[in-house]
Amino acid sequence: MATEIQQGTGQETRAALRVAFIGLGNMGGPMAANLVSAGHAVRGFDLSGAAVERLVAAGGKAAQSIPDAVRDAQVVITMLPAGEHVLAAYDGPQGVLANAPQDAVLIDSSTVPPEIPRQLAKIARSGTQLLDAPVSGGTAGAAAGTLTFMVGGDAALVERMRPLLGNMGKAIHHGGPLGAGQTLKLCNNMLLGILMAGTSEALRLGIANGLDPKVLSAVMQQSSGRNWTLEVYNPCPGVMENAASSRGYTGGFATDLMAKDLRLAHGAAESSNVATPLGDLARRIFEVHRANGHGGLDFSSIFQDPVTLAQALEVK
Ligand code: NAD
Repeated sequence: MATEIQQGTGQETRAALRVAFIGLGNMGGPMAANLVSAGHAVRGFDLSGAAVERLVAAGGKAAQSIPDAVRDAQVVITMLPAGEHVLAAYDGPQGVLANAPQDAVLIDSSTVPPEIPRQLAKIARSGTQLLDAPVSGGTAGAAAGTLTFMVGGDAALVERMRPLLGNMGKAIHHGGPLGAGQTLKLCNNMLLGILMAGTSEALRLGIANGLDPKVLSAVMQQSSGRNWTLEVYNPCPGVMENAASSRGYTGGFATDLMAKDLRLAHGAAESSNVATPLGDLARRIFEVHRANGHGGLDFSSIFQDPVTLAQALEVK
């Protein structure tokens, strides 16, 4: 496609691309919509028909299958729940690798173990251009186009893709070779899990002792306990209008996904022989929260489920 579009400051022009977007959920949906708004021709596929319809309403095209989505794509982006979904989407006769043009750039933005992008490189034809590019910033960041991308792969390819990624995010960090983006991401999310569990504890302790959560949150936000959960994602309902906690913990980042990320961090810590006791405790706390039936709620719902140390330590 030869169309030129204005982007960013409007001082630079970038070619519009044919993009296949696979996985149009809480994150992928708004990311794909931002690519449409930036002028790219986006063809989307999701197992959920409703998700595909939302992309069509935003100006994208519907694909009936992965082969249909990728067949003439210049860039393929996948945003799927976990490693097994990514392998299933890329491998096999109906997969991305067998059906995308040989010169297409394949970008997986799902959060998966660092081994997955390396495994994809092994099963792909030699010369396949692959990047792992997980994100942080949550569903609000996906909608606003302000995600942070953590990218692993060839440096020149990262530079080529920077304008496209910039249509969905405000910061694009290159961490190193394939898999490095996922390592950046699992370190960040291990810390996020610890911060959310810890912030919830501090709020529960204050409320039980007569404090107003709004006052306590404001004080901690201006003091040394300050962190991202207090700034934009307060877990206590009613403190922050736009946070998932104030809409019944719907949308946002599911507890199941946080538990997955903490398992990824645990696996990486074990395989690299690094002690991460706080990360491991956060993993166990979120596993109990899942077992209590809250896997589908936003992870900040941990605030309403005071898991005890004894319960957490029962988790393997
Ligand atoms: P989601 O469950 O809302 O969306 C995943 C989508 O993938 C669903 O719509 C599902 O139908 C679709 N899907 C699954 N298998 C498919 C297949 N084979 N073909 C086509 N579509 C398929 O999840 P999400 O919240 O959008 O998260 C996606 C990824 O982004 C996860 O790896 C998650 O860890 C990561 N992530 C999420 C957030 C967040 O705040 N939600 C933030 C950063 C990173």
